[in-house]
Amino acid sequence: MKNSQQKLNANQPIDSLINGKWQKHSKKIDVTNPVDGSILAQVSSASPDECLAAVDAAQSAFASWKSTAPRARAEILRKSFELMIAEQESLARLITLENGKVLSDARAEVAYAAEFFRWFSEEAVRIDGDYRRAPSGTNWLMVSRQPVGVALLATPWNFPAAMATRKIGPALAAGCTVVLKPASETPLTALAIAEIMQRAGVPAGVVNVVVPSPAGPAVSAMLKSDIVRKLSFTGSTQVGALLLAQAAEKIINCTMELGGNAPFIVCQDADLASAVDGAMLAKMRNGGAACTAANRFFVHEKIYDAFAEALTARMNALVLGDGLDAKTTVGPLVSKSQQQRVADLVDEAKSSGAKVACGGFAATDGSFGYAPTVLTEVALNAPILREEIFGPVAPLIRYTDKDDLLAHANSVEHGLVSYVYTRDLGSGMRISEALESGMVGLNRGLVSDPAAPFGGVKQSGLGREGAHDGLLAFLETKYVAGNW
Ligand code: NAP
Repeated sequence: MKNSQQKLNANQPIDSLINGKWQKHSKKIDVTNPVDGSILAQVSSASPDECLAAVDAAQSAFASWKSTAPRARAEILRKSFELMIAEQESLARLITLENGKVLSDARAEVAYAAEFFRWFSEEAVRIDGDYRRAPSGTNWLMVSRQPVGVALLATPWNFPAAMATRKIGPALAAGCTVVLKPASETPLTALAIAEIMQRAGVPAGVVNVVVPSPAGPAVSAMLKSDIVRKLSFTGSTQVGALLLAQAAEKIINCTMELGGNAPFIVCQDADLASAVDGAMLAKMRNGGAACTAANRFFVHEKIYDAFAEALTARMNALVLGDGLDAKTTVGPLVSKSQQQRVADLVDEAKSSGAKVACGGFAATDGSFGYAPTVLTEVALNAPILREEIFGPVAPLIRYTDKDDLLAHANSVEHGLVSYVYTRDLGSGMRISEALESGMVGLNRGLVSDPAAPFGGVKQSGLGREGAHDGLLAFLETKYVAGNW
Protein backbone atom coordinates (compact mmCIF):
# COMPACT_ATOMS: atom_id res chain seq x y z
CA MET A 1 0.00 0.00 0.00
CA LYS A 2 1.21 3.48 -0.82
CA ASN A 3 1.56 6.01 1.98
CA SER A 4 -0.01 9.38 1.24
CA GLN A 5 0.22 10.99 4.68
CA GLN A 6 1.88 14.06 3.11
CA LYS A 7 -1.50 14.94 1.55
CA LEU A 8 -2.93 16.01 4.93
CA ASN A 9 -2.61 19.44 6.51
CA ALA A 10 0.30 19.67 8.94
CA ASN A 11 -2.10 20.47 11.82
CA GLN A 12 -4.52 17.57 11.06
CA PRO A 13 -5.34 15.90 14.40
CA ILE A 14 -4.91 12.12 14.43
CA ASP A 15 -5.43 11.43 18.14
CA SER A 16 -8.41 11.29 20.48
CA LEU A 17 -9.75 14.52 21.93
CA ILE A 18 -10.41 13.93 25.62
CA ASN A 19 -11.00 16.73 28.10
CA GLY A 20 -9.62 19.32 25.71
CA LYS A 21 -6.34 17.47 25.07
CA TRP A 22 -5.20 15.41 22.10
CA GLN A 23 -4.32 11.99 23.47
CA LYS A 24 -2.28 9.32 21.74
CA HIS A 25 -3.07 5.64 22.22
CA SER A 26 -0.79 2.71 21.54
CA LYS A 27 -3.25 1.12 19.11
CA LYS A 28 -3.54 2.77 15.67
CA ILE A 29 -5.92 2.29 12.76
CA ASP A 30 -5.16 3.04 9.13
CA VAL A 31 -7.33 5.56 7.30
CA THR A 32 -7.11 4.90 3.57
CA ASN A 33 -7.74 6.92 0.44
CA PRO A 34 -10.40 5.03 -1.57
CA VAL A 35 -8.99 6.25 -4.85
CA ASP A 36 -5.82 4.17 -4.58
CA GLY A 37 -5.97 2.35 -1.24
CA SER A 38 -2.99 4.37 0.07
CA ILE A 39 -2.73 5.08 3.79
CA LEU A 40 -3.66 8.68 4.60
CA ALA A 41 -3.03 8.54 8.33
CA GLN A 42 -2.71 6.25 11.31
CA VAL A 43 -5.23 7.41 13.85
CA SER A 44 -5.09 6.63 17.58
CA SER A 45 -7.70 4.02 18.40
CA ALA A 46 -9.15 4.36 21.88
CA SER A 47 -9.68 1.22 24.00
CA PRO A 48 -12.99 0.83 25.87
CA ASP A 49 -11.30 2.22 29.02
CA GLU A 50 -9.94 5.20 27.10
CA CYS A 51 -13.46 5.82 25.76
CA LEU A 52 -14.75 5.76 29.32
CA ALA A 53 -12.22 8.50 30.16
CA ALA A 54 -13.90 10.58 27.43
CA VAL A 55 -17.31 9.89 29.00
CA ASP A 56 -15.94 10.96 32.39
CA ALA A 57 -14.57 14.16 30.84
CA ALA A 58 -17.99 14.92 29.33
CA GLN A 59 -19.59 14.28 32.72
CA SER A 60 -17.17 16.63 34.50
CA ALA A 61 -17.84 19.39 31.97
CA PHE A 62 -21.64 18.97 32.00
CA ALA A 63 -22.58 21.02 35.08
CA SER A 64 -20.72 24.07 33.91
CA TRP A 65 -21.81 23.79 30.25
CA LYS A 66 -25.50 23.40 31.04
CA SER A 67 -25.38 26.53 33.19
CA THR A 68 -23.44 28.50 30.56
CA ALA A 69 -25.70 31.23 29.20
CA PRO A 70 -27.55 30.11 26.05
CA ARG A 71 -26.16 33.17 24.25
CA ALA A 72 -22.59 32.14 25.14
CA ARG A 73 -23.25 28.59 23.91
CA ALA A 74 -24.75 30.05 20.75
CA GLU A 75 -21.70 32.26 20.11
CA ILE A 76 -19.37 29.25 20.16
CA LEU A 77 -21.56 27.45 17.62
CA ARG A 78 -21.74 30.57 15.48
CA LYS A 79 -17.95 30.94 15.56
CA SER A 80 -17.61 27.25 14.63
CA PHE A 81 -19.89 27.92 11.62
CA GLU A 82 -17.75 30.86 10.54
CA LEU A 83 -14.48 28.95 10.88
CA MET A 84 -15.88 25.98 8.93
CA ILE A 85 -16.95 28.26 6.09
CA ALA A 86 -13.57 30.06 6.13
CA GLU A 87 -11.86 26.67 5.92
CA GLN A 88 -14.34 25.11 3.48
CA GLU A 89 -11.74 24.25 0.86
CA SER A 90 -9.32 22.41 3.12
CA LEU A 91 -12.16 20.55 4.87
CA ALA A 92 -13.63 19.58 1.49
CA ARG A 93 -10.26 18.22 0.36
CA LEU A 94 -10.01 16.21 3.55
CA ILE A 95 -13.48 14.71 3.02
CA THR A 96 -12.56 13.76 -0.55
CA LEU A 97 -9.30 12.22 0.59
CA GLU A 98 -10.79 9.93 3.21
CA ASN A 99 -14.28 9.33 1.75
CA GLY A 100 -13.67 9.49 -2.00
CA LYS A 101 -16.62 11.74 -2.94
CA VAL A 102 -15.92 14.36 -5.61
CA LEU A 103 -14.70 17.76 -4.47
CA SER A 104 -17.94 19.53 -5.50
CA ASP A 105 -19.95 17.12 -3.30
CA ALA A 106 -17.42 17.59 -0.50
CA ARG A 107 -17.67 21.39 -0.71
CA ALA A 108 -21.45 21.11 -0.60
CA GLU A 109 -21.18 18.85 2.43
CA VAL A 110 -18.99 21.34 4.32
CA ALA A 111 -21.48 24.14 3.63
CA TYR A 112 -24.39 21.89 4.69
CA ALA A 113 -22.50 20.71 7.79
CA ALA A 114 -21.57 24.25 8.85
CA GLU A 115 -25.23 25.31 8.50
CA PHE A 116 -26.14 22.98 11.39
CA PHE A 117 -23.86 25.07 13.63
CA ARG A 118 -25.46 28.29 12.38
CA TRP A 119 -29.01 26.93 12.71
CA PHE A 120 -28.46 25.56 16.21
CA SER A 121 -26.64 28.72 17.32
CA GLU A 122 -29.96 30.41 16.56
CA GLU A 123 -32.00 27.66 18.28
CA ALA A 124 -29.85 27.74 21.44
CA VAL A 125 -31.53 30.98 22.51
CA ARG A 126 -35.04 29.72 21.71
CA ILE A 127 -35.48 26.93 24.25
CA ASP A 128 -39.10 27.34 25.22
CA GLY A 129 -41.18 26.65 28.30
CA ASP A 130 -44.79 26.97 29.42
CA TYR A 131 -46.59 28.56 32.35
CA ARG A 132 -50.31 27.90 32.74
CA ARG A 133 -53.07 27.61 35.24
CA ALA A 134 -54.16 24.00 35.75
CA PRO A 135 -57.64 23.30 34.27
CA SER A 136 -58.91 22.60 37.79
CA GLY A 137 -57.80 26.08 38.86
CA THR A 138 -56.09 24.68 41.94
CA ASN A 139 -52.45 25.30 40.96
CA TRP A 140 -49.99 26.35 38.27
CA LEU A 141 -48.29 24.19 35.65
CA MET A 142 -44.73 25.28 34.92
CA VAL A 143 -42.85 23.51 32.19
CA SER A 144 -39.20 23.99 31.31
CA ARG A 145 -36.58 22.10 29.30
CA GLN A 146 -33.37 20.71 30.65
CA PRO A 147 -30.44 19.16 28.77
CA VAL A 148 -30.65 15.36 28.73
CA GLY A 149 -27.05 14.98 29.93
CA VAL A 150 -23.95 13.38 28.45
CA ALA A 151 -24.64 12.33 24.88
CA LEU A 152 -22.91 9.62 22.86
CA LEU A 153 -22.95 10.47 19.17
CA ALA A 154 -22.06 7.78 16.62
CA THR A 155 -21.82 8.62 12.93
CA PRO A 156 -21.30 6.84 9.58
CA TRP A 157 -18.67 7.33 6.86
CA ASN A 158 -20.87 8.69 4.07
CA PHE A 159 -21.22 12.28 5.39
CA PRO A 160 -18.26 12.56 7.77
CA ALA A 161 -18.82 16.29 8.45
CA ALA A 162 -22.59 16.75 8.27
CA MET A 163 -23.56 13.75 10.38
CA ALA A 164 -21.22 15.01 13.12
CA THR A 165 -22.42 18.64 13.12
CA ARG A 166 -26.09 17.60 12.84
CA LYS A 167 -25.61 16.03 16.30
CA ILE A 168 -22.98 18.23 17.97
CA GLY A 169 -24.88 21.43 17.05
CA PRO A 170 -28.17 20.65 18.82
CA ALA A 171 -26.46 18.81 21.69
CA LEU A 172 -24.32 21.84 22.58
CA ALA A 173 -27.20 24.25 21.98
CA ALA A 174 -29.29 22.26 24.46
CA GLY A 175 -26.52 22.27 27.09
CA CYS A 176 -25.38 18.65 26.67
CA THR A 177 -21.74 17.59 26.54
CA VAL A 178 -20.76 14.91 24.03
CA VAL A 179 -18.53 12.03 23.09
CA LEU A 180 -18.42 11.69 19.31
CA LYS A 181 -17.51 8.35 17.79
CA PRO A 182 -17.05 8.83 14.04
CA ALA A 183 -16.84 5.93 11.58
CA SER A 184 -13.39 4.35 11.63
CA GLU A 185 -13.18 4.66 7.83
CA THR A 186 -13.52 8.49 7.93
CA PRO A 187 -12.47 9.86 11.35
CA LEU A 188 -10.19 12.66 10.10
CA THR A 189 -12.99 15.09 9.22
CA ALA A 190 -14.59 14.74 12.66
CA LEU A 191 -11.22 15.31 14.34
CA ALA A 192 -10.65 18.41 12.17
CA ILE A 193 -14.10 19.77 13.14
CA ALA A 194 -13.35 19.17 16.82
CA GLU A 195 -10.12 21.14 16.41
CA ILE A 196 -12.08 23.99 14.79
CA MET A 197 -14.51 23.93 17.72
CA GLN A 198 -11.60 24.25 20.15
CA ARG A 199 -10.49 27.36 18.29
CA ALA A 200 -14.08 28.62 18.45
CA GLY A 201 -13.85 28.44 22.24
CA VAL A 202 -15.57 25.19 23.19
CA PRO A 203 -14.48 24.44 26.79
CA ALA A 204 -12.45 21.32 27.64
CA GLY A 205 -14.60 18.19 28.00
CA VAL A 206 -17.66 19.60 26.20
CA VAL A 207 -16.73 17.91 22.90
CA ASN A 208 -14.70 14.70 23.08
CA VAL A 209 -13.86 12.50 20.08
CA VAL A 210 -12.73 8.87 20.17
CA VAL A 211 -12.20 6.35 17.38
CA PRO A 212 -12.36 2.88 18.94
CA SER A 213 -11.91 -0.06 16.62
CA PRO A 214 -13.66 -2.41 16.80
CA ALA A 215 -16.52 -0.09 17.71
CA GLY A 216 -18.76 -2.66 19.45
CA PRO A 217 -17.04 -3.23 22.84
CA ALA A 218 -16.23 0.46 23.35
CA VAL A 219 -19.75 1.66 22.49
CA SER A 220 -21.23 -1.01 24.77
CA ALA A 221 -18.95 0.06 27.62
CA MET A 222 -20.00 3.70 27.19
CA LEU A 223 -23.69 2.78 27.11
CA LYS A 224 -23.27 0.75 30.30
CA SER A 225 -21.36 3.53 32.07
CA ASP A 226 -24.39 4.94 33.94
CA ILE A 227 -23.24 8.36 32.69
CA VAL A 228 -24.44 8.42 29.07
CA ARG A 229 -28.08 9.64 29.02
CA LYS A 230 -28.52 10.10 25.27
CA LEU A 231 -27.53 8.04 22.25
CA SER A 232 -27.80 9.74 18.88
CA PHE A 233 -26.87 7.24 16.19
CA THR A 234 -26.72 7.49 12.42
CA GLY A 235 -25.88 4.36 10.50
CA SER A 236 -27.29 1.07 9.33
CA THR A 237 -30.58 -0.33 10.58
CA GLN A 238 -28.75 -3.49 11.65
CA VAL A 239 -26.32 -1.69 13.99
CA GLY A 240 -29.08 0.70 15.10
CA ALA A 241 -31.23 -2.22 16.26
CA LEU A 242 -28.30 -3.69 18.16
CA LEU A 243 -27.63 -0.39 19.93
CA LEU A 244 -31.30 0.19 20.76
CA ALA A 245 -31.29 -3.18 22.56
CA GLN A 246 -28.18 -2.15 24.51
CA ALA A 247 -29.60 1.29 25.30
CA ALA A 248 -32.75 -0.38 26.64
CA GLU A 249 -30.76 -1.84 29.57
CA LYS A 250 -30.27 1.65 31.02
CA ILE A 251 -33.37 3.25 29.42
CA ILE A 252 -31.14 5.64 27.46
CA ASN A 253 -32.92 8.28 25.38
CA CYS A 254 -32.29 7.39 21.70
CA THR A 255 -32.43 9.13 18.35
CA MET A 256 -31.87 6.74 15.46
CA GLU A 257 -31.22 7.84 11.87
CA LEU A 258 -30.99 4.57 9.99
CA GLY A 259 -31.04 3.17 6.48
CA GLY A 260 -33.30 4.14 3.60
CA ASN A 261 -34.68 2.60 0.42
CA ALA A 262 -36.24 5.60 -1.31
CA PRO A 263 -38.79 5.21 -4.10
CA PHE A 264 -38.53 7.81 -6.86
CA ILE A 265 -41.89 8.06 -8.62
CA VAL A 266 -42.27 9.62 -12.04
CA CYS A 267 -45.97 10.08 -12.87
CA GLN A 268 -47.16 10.16 -16.47
CA ASP A 269 -47.68 13.94 -16.38
CA ALA A 270 -44.25 14.72 -14.87
CA ASP A 271 -42.05 17.37 -16.43
CA LEU A 272 -39.46 15.04 -17.97
CA ALA A 273 -36.47 17.40 -17.82
CA SER A 274 -37.03 18.32 -14.21
CA ALA A 275 -37.69 14.67 -13.25
CA VAL A 276 -34.35 13.68 -14.78
CA ASP A 277 -32.57 16.57 -13.02
CA GLY A 278 -34.19 15.50 -9.74
CA ALA A 279 -33.28 11.86 -10.38
CA MET A 280 -29.63 12.76 -10.91
CA LEU A 281 -29.58 14.70 -7.66
CA ALA A 282 -31.50 12.10 -5.66
CA LYS A 283 -29.42 9.24 -7.05
CA MET A 284 -25.95 10.69 -7.55
CA ARG A 285 -25.39 13.06 -4.63
CA ASN A 286 -22.39 11.52 -2.89
CA GLY A 287 -22.02 8.98 -5.71
CA GLY A 288 -25.18 7.22 -4.51
CA ALA A 289 -23.80 6.69 -0.99
CA ALA A 290 -26.56 8.57 0.82
CA CYS A 291 -29.35 7.30 3.06
CA THR A 292 -31.60 9.60 1.02
CA ALA A 293 -30.48 8.11 -2.30
CA ALA A 294 -33.23 7.13 -4.72
CA ASN A 295 -33.08 3.34 -4.72
CA ARG A 296 -36.12 2.29 -6.76
CA PHE A 297 -37.35 4.29 -9.77
CA PHE A 298 -41.07 3.68 -10.47
CA VAL A 299 -41.80 5.27 -13.83
CA HIS A 300 -45.24 5.38 -15.48
CA GLU A 301 -45.30 3.30 -18.66
CA LYS A 302 -46.28 6.34 -20.76
CA ILE A 303 -43.08 8.19 -19.88
CA TYR A 304 -40.84 5.18 -19.11
CA ASP A 305 -38.88 4.96 -22.38
CA ALA A 306 -38.24 8.70 -22.59
CA PHE A 307 -37.18 8.86 -18.94
CA ALA A 308 -34.91 5.80 -19.26
CA GLU A 309 -33.24 7.24 -22.35
CA ALA A 310 -32.68 10.69 -20.82
CA LEU A 311 -31.42 9.31 -17.49
CA THR A 312 -29.08 6.89 -19.28
CA ALA A 313 -27.61 9.75 -21.32
CA ARG A 314 -26.94 11.76 -18.14
CA MET A 315 -25.46 8.79 -16.25
CA ASN A 316 -23.30 7.87 -19.25
CA ALA A 317 -21.87 11.37 -19.34
CA LEU A 318 -20.53 11.14 -15.78
CA VAL A 319 -16.79 10.70 -15.34
CA LEU A 320 -15.60 8.18 -12.75
CA GLY A 321 -12.23 8.87 -11.17
CA ASP A 322 -10.26 10.61 -8.44
CA GLY A 323 -12.57 12.99 -6.58
CA LEU A 324 -9.81 15.61 -6.40
CA ASP A 325 -9.53 15.74 -10.20
CA ALA A 326 -11.60 18.60 -11.67
CA LYS A 327 -12.86 16.39 -14.54
CA THR A 328 -14.28 13.77 -12.19
CA THR A 329 -18.02 13.80 -11.51
CA VAL A 330 -18.26 10.47 -9.59
CA GLY A 331 -15.70 9.35 -7.04
CA PRO A 332 -14.99 5.81 -5.86
CA LEU A 333 -16.99 4.03 -3.16
CA VAL A 334 -15.48 4.12 0.31
CA SER A 335 -14.05 0.58 0.36
CA LYS A 336 -13.39 -2.58 -1.59
CA SER A 337 -16.23 -4.33 0.27
CA GLN A 338 -18.76 -1.62 -0.74
CA GLN A 339 -17.60 -1.93 -4.34
CA GLN A 340 -18.07 -5.72 -4.23
CA ARG A 341 -21.53 -5.36 -2.63
CA VAL A 342 -22.72 -3.05 -5.42
CA ALA A 343 -21.27 -5.36 -8.07
CA ASP A 344 -23.05 -8.37 -6.51
CA LEU A 345 -26.41 -6.54 -6.43
CA VAL A 346 -26.12 -5.57 -10.11
CA ASP A 347 -25.08 -9.10 -11.13
CA GLU A 348 -28.04 -10.58 -9.25
CA ALA A 349 -30.43 -8.12 -10.93
CA LYS A 350 -29.02 -9.01 -14.35
CA SER A 351 -29.48 -12.71 -13.71
CA SER A 352 -33.13 -12.09 -12.78
CA GLY A 353 -33.78 -10.36 -16.11
CA ALA A 354 -32.75 -6.70 -15.72
CA LYS A 355 -31.15 -5.03 -18.75
CA VAL A 356 -28.06 -2.84 -18.42
CA ALA A 357 -28.68 0.48 -20.19
CA CYS A 358 -25.28 1.81 -19.12
CA GLY A 359 -22.47 0.91 -16.71
CA GLY A 360 -22.76 -2.41 -14.93
CA PHE A 361 -19.07 -2.90 -14.09
CA ALA A 362 -16.53 -2.05 -11.37
CA ALA A 363 -13.62 0.29 -12.07
CA THR A 364 -10.56 -1.48 -13.39
CA ASP A 365 -8.00 1.17 -12.34
CA GLY A 366 -7.47 -0.25 -8.85
CA SER A 367 -9.85 2.29 -7.24
CA PHE A 368 -13.01 1.30 -5.36
CA GLY A 369 -15.13 2.91 -8.08
CA TYR A 370 -18.25 1.52 -9.77
CA ALA A 371 -19.49 2.82 -13.12
CA PRO A 372 -22.72 4.88 -13.08
CA THR A 373 -25.35 2.32 -14.03
CA VAL A 374 -28.96 2.30 -15.22
CA LEU A 375 -30.86 -0.99 -15.06
CA THR A 376 -34.18 -1.26 -16.90
CA GLU A 377 -37.00 -3.79 -16.63
CA VAL A 378 -35.93 -4.74 -13.10
CA ALA A 379 -38.04 -7.57 -11.65
CA LEU A 380 -40.13 -6.50 -8.67
CA ASN A 381 -38.64 -9.29 -6.54
CA ALA A 382 -34.99 -8.48 -7.40
CA PRO A 383 -32.83 -8.16 -4.24
CA ILE A 384 -31.50 -4.81 -5.50
CA LEU A 385 -34.96 -3.33 -4.77
CA ARG A 386 -34.99 -4.67 -1.20
CA GLU A 387 -31.53 -3.48 -0.17
CA GLU A 388 -29.94 -0.10 0.11
CA ILE A 389 -27.62 0.01 -2.93
CA PHE A 390 -25.39 2.79 -1.58
CA GLY A 391 -23.76 3.20 -4.98
CA PRO A 392 -24.30 4.79 -8.43
CA VAL A 393 -26.94 2.36 -9.69
CA ALA A 394 -30.49 3.33 -10.77
CA PRO A 395 -32.94 0.41 -11.13
CA LEU A 396 -36.05 1.32 -13.20
CA ILE A 397 -39.46 -0.32 -12.81
CA ARG A 398 -42.37 0.27 -15.20
CA TYR A 399 -45.76 0.91 -13.54
CA THR A 400 -49.29 1.42 -14.83
CA ASP A 401 -51.65 1.46 -11.86
CA LYS A 402 -51.34 4.02 -9.02
CA ASP A 403 -52.65 1.67 -6.32
CA ASP A 404 -50.13 -1.01 -7.29
CA LEU A 405 -47.45 1.65 -7.34
CA LEU A 406 -48.19 2.73 -3.76
CA ALA A 407 -48.33 -0.87 -2.54
CA HIS A 408 -44.93 -1.58 -4.07
CA ALA A 409 -43.40 1.72 -2.95
CA ASN A 410 -44.51 0.99 0.64
CA SER A 411 -43.62 -2.70 0.57
CA VAL A 412 -40.14 -2.33 2.09
CA GLU A 413 -39.10 -2.19 5.74
CA HIS A 414 -37.54 1.27 5.39
CA GLY A 415 -39.34 4.61 5.26
CA LEU A 416 -36.86 7.47 5.23
CA VAL A 417 -37.64 9.53 2.15
CA SER A 418 -39.61 9.28 -1.11
CA TYR A 419 -39.61 11.40 -4.26
CA VAL A 420 -42.59 12.20 -6.48
CA TYR A 421 -42.63 14.02 -9.81
CA THR A 422 -45.97 15.18 -11.20
CA ARG A 423 -47.46 18.40 -12.59
CA ASP A 424 -50.74 17.68 -10.77
CA LEU A 425 -50.14 19.07 -7.30
CA GLY A 426 -53.31 17.51 -5.87
CA SER A 427 -52.27 14.07 -7.03
CA GLY A 428 -48.72 14.74 -5.81
CA MET A 429 -50.01 15.64 -2.34
CA ARG A 430 -52.25 12.54 -2.21
CA ILE A 431 -49.30 10.32 -3.14
CA SER A 432 -47.08 12.13 -0.63
CA GLU A 433 -49.65 11.53 2.12
CA ALA A 434 -49.93 7.84 1.25
CA LEU A 435 -46.20 7.15 1.11
CA GLU A 436 -44.82 5.54 4.26
CA SER A 437 -41.78 7.75 4.73
CA GLY A 438 -40.73 10.48 7.10
CA MET A 439 -39.90 12.87 4.24
CA VAL A 440 -41.06 13.44 0.66
CA GLY A 441 -39.44 15.40 -2.12
CA LEU A 442 -42.32 16.67 -4.27
CA ASN A 443 -40.90 17.76 -7.62
CA ARG A 444 -37.58 18.03 -5.79
CA GLY A 445 -34.60 15.64 -5.67
CA LEU A 446 -33.11 17.02 -2.45
CA VAL A 447 -34.83 17.28 0.93
CA SER A 448 -31.93 17.81 3.36
CA ASP A 449 -32.08 21.19 5.09
CA PRO A 450 -30.84 22.06 8.60
CA ALA A 451 -34.09 24.00 9.12
CA ALA A 452 -36.28 20.95 8.33
CA PRO A 453 -37.01 17.85 10.44
CA PHE A 454 -34.96 15.01 8.97
CA GLY A 455 -35.83 11.41 9.83
CA GLY A 456 -37.69 8.28 8.95
CA VAL A 457 -40.50 5.94 9.89
CA LYS A 458 -40.56 2.13 10.11
CA GLN A 459 -37.03 0.71 10.25
CA SER A 460 -35.48 3.99 9.09
CA GLY A 461 -35.36 5.29 12.61
CA LEU A 462 -36.74 7.10 15.61
CA GLY A 463 -36.88 10.85 16.16
CA ARG A 464 -35.77 13.75 14.01
CA GLU A 465 -32.63 15.80 13.49
CA GLY A 466 -32.49 19.39 12.28
CA ALA A 467 -35.23 22.02 12.72
CA HIS A 468 -36.51 22.72 16.25
CA ASP A 469 -37.15 18.96 16.66
CA GLY A 470 -33.40 18.38 16.53
CA LEU A 471 -32.95 20.58 19.59
CA LEU A 472 -35.83 18.93 21.48
CA ALA A 473 -34.09 15.57 20.99
CA PHE A 474 -31.39 16.71 23.46
CA LEU A 475 -33.82 18.19 26.01
CA GLU A 476 -35.97 16.64 28.73
CA THR A 477 -39.25 18.25 29.67
CA LYS A 478 -39.39 19.26 33.34
CA TYR A 479 -42.74 20.05 34.91
CA VAL A 480 -43.28 21.73 38.25
CA ALA A 481 -46.77 21.79 39.76
CA GLY A 482 -46.79 24.94 41.87
CA ASN A 483 -48.85 26.89 44.31
CA TRP A 484 -48.23 30.07 46.27
P1 NAP B 1 -22.78 1.35 10.23
O1 NAP B 1 -21.93 0.21 9.82
O2 NAP B 1 -24.05 1.07 10.93
O3 NAP B 1 -21.83 2.28 11.13
C1 NAP B 1 -22.29 3.47 11.70
C2 NAP B 1 -21.49 3.74 12.97
O4 NAP B 1 -21.72 2.69 13.91
C3 NAP B 1 -19.99 3.79 12.73
O5 NAP B 1 -19.44 4.76 13.57
C4 NAP B 1 -19.55 2.40 13.15
O6 NAP B 1 -18.21 2.32 13.58
C5 NAP B 1 -20.48 2.12 14.30
N1 NAP B 1 -20.67 0.70 14.56
C6 NAP B 1 -20.57 -0.33 13.69
N2 NAP B 1 -20.82 -1.50 14.31
C7 NAP B 1 -21.07 -1.20 15.60
C8 NAP B 1 -21.38 -1.97 16.76
N3 NAP B 1 -21.49 -3.30 16.70
N4 NAP B 1 -21.58 -1.35 17.92
C9 NAP B 1 -21.47 0.00 17.99
N5 NAP B 1 -21.18 0.79 16.94
C10 NAP B 1 -20.98 0.20 15.76
O7 NAP B 1 -23.15 2.28 9.01
P2 NAP B 1 -22.19 2.82 7.86
O8 NAP B 1 -21.89 1.70 6.93
O9 NAP B 1 -21.06 3.60 8.43
O10 NAP B 1 -23.15 3.89 7.14
C11 NAP B 1 -24.05 3.56 6.18
C12 NAP B 1 -25.44 3.45 6.76
O11 NAP B 1 -25.79 4.67 7.42
C13 NAP B 1 -26.49 3.26 5.68
O12 NAP B 1 -27.42 2.30 6.08
C14 NAP B 1 -27.16 4.65 5.60
O13 NAP B 1 -28.47 4.63 5.12
C15 NAP B 1 -27.09 5.08 7.01
N6 NAP B 1 -27.23 6.53 7.10
C16 NAP B 1 -28.41 7.03 7.57
C17 NAP B 1 -28.59 8.41 7.63
C18 NAP B 1 -29.88 8.98 8.17
O14 NAP B 1 -29.88 10.17 8.50
N7 NAP B 1 -30.96 8.23 8.27
C19 NAP B 1 -27.58 9.26 7.21
C20 NAP B 1 -26.40 8.72 6.72
C21 NAP B 1 -26.24 7.34 6.68
P3 NAP B 1 -17.07 1.70 12.64
O15 NAP B 1 -16.94 2.61 11.48
O16 NAP B 1 -15.89 1.71 13.50
O17 NAP B 1 -17.52 0.33 12.25
